[in-house]
Amino acid sequence: MNHTFYSLITIFTIILVFSLCFFIPLLAQYGYVSSYIPNNYTITTNINSSEFIWPSPGYTTITSKFGYRNSPTSGAGTYHGGIDIAAPTGSNIIATFSGIVTYTGFKGANGYTITVENGSFSFSCSHVSPNFLVHVGQYINKGEIIANVGPKNVYGVPNNPYKDNNGNPTNGATTGPHLHFSIKKDGKAVNPLDYF
Ligand SMILES: [Zn+2]
Repeated sequence: MNHTFYSLITIFTIILVFSLCFFIPLLAQYGYVSSYIPNNYTITTNINSSEFIWPSPGYTTITSKFGYRNSPTSGAGTYHGGIDIAAPTGSNIIATFSGIVTYTGFKGANGYTITVENGSFSFSCSHVSPNFLVHVGQYINKGEIIANVGPKNVYGVPNNPYKDNNGNPTNGATTGPHLHFSIKKDGKAVNPLDYF
C-alpha cells in the first residue's frame, strides 16, 4: 500500500462523512429521502393532495373564506391567505399531511403560528396556543395533534401591536378564538377548501 492510496481513502472518507452528516438530513427535510427519519414514522415522500385531512376535528364552520374580502378585522389584510374555522380555545388541531415542522412562533397578524412542510406543499395553523406541542425540525405524521386553538388574548409578546377594544394584547389580528388555516403550493397560497 503506497502513500497515494491512503490519501485517496482519507479523501473518500471525508467526502462520505460530509455527505452523511449534511446532505442526507437536508434532503430528508425536503422529503426526498427517508433514511434520516426514525423507523417508527410513516414517510410520505410524495404526498397525495387528495388525501389531505381536515385540521380541526369536529369543527367545520368557515367564518372567513380564502381570497379578497370586504371587511376584515382591524389589522388583518383585505386579502385572506387562508380560511378561518370557528373552534374554541383548546380544541385540537391535527396535521393535514405528514412533514417537517419549519416554524413555530408569533407571526405578526397571524399570531402564534405553526408551519409544516413536505415537498412542494406547506400548511400553517395560526392563532394557536403559545404552548407549542411540536418543535422546529420535528417530523410529524398526518393526523397527529400538533397544536391547540389559542386564546384571544396573549401576553408577553414584545412589541405586539394587536390589541382588543379593552387594550389587551391579542393573538395576532383576531377578535376571538379560531383557527386560521392556510396551504401553500410551491410557495403560493392556495384555497384550502380545494383540497377537502
Ligand atoms: Zn384568517
